Amino acid sequence: MDFVFSPPPVASLEVAGSNSRFPIRRVYCVGRNYADHAREMGAHEQADGREPPFFFCKPADAVLGGGDVPYPPATANLQHEVELVVALGPATATAGNEGADIPVSDALACVYGYTVGFDLTRRDVQARAKEKGHPWDMGKGFDASAPAGVLQPVAAIGHPERGNIWLKVNGELRQNGDLANMSWHVAEVIANLSTFVRLMPGDLIFTGTPAGVSTVVQGDVLEGGVSGVGELKIRLV
Ligand code: MN
Repeated sequence: MDFVFSPPPVASLEVAGSNSRFPIRRVYCVGRNYADHAREMGAHEQADGREPPFFFCKPADAVLGGGDVPYPPATANLQHEVELVVALGPATATAGNEGADIPVSDALACVYGYTVGFDLTRRDVQARAKEKGHPWDMGKGFDASAPAGVLQPVAAIGHPERGNIWLKVNGELRQNGDLANMSWHVAEVIANLSTFVRLMPGDLIFTGTPAGVSTVVQGDVLEGGVSGVGELKIRLV
């Protein structure tokens, strides 16, 4: 294949215990997947305690590792959301109808590994979009909006179902939840998302954040973690 100019490099994540990297295809995110965060965002409680999952996307090249992260332009209210990130592996291509309509019972077999990610959000831009019924893209999918840690293969850590998910800003605890309180669990998220799009190896899914999101500024140090998965540390520069 010849291109009229060199194609951009493949976005990727470091893999624990490997010299090879995980190539990123697409980045999906679940909105409001913990009831306490849904409440702080002003959502109305559903009769059964959970609304159907909904999804948005970030560009693959918005993912970067820990370290210095540039404070984005065009916002006066950047917020953090610490999330468990699911990385889909080769089995996804043959699950369900070739990555579509994956049954809940087959979903976890699609997972290559897990890591910790920060769904950085221009909350002011997102709020204006919500008011006007506009897309969330510029509130969510900006450059460097998806820092993520080292990927831990399922072969090493299994499938985390419960455990602390937390985030500190400059050493002060802001978010402190438990994976067990996800409204839609990992297998359900994969199955539901696969009814909208064909999932493929290399796809990442940010699975939502617990309560405690707050505004951060240039110079702040954000540390977050998921018990049994790992930790991520960034500095806004
Ligand atoms: Mn989020």
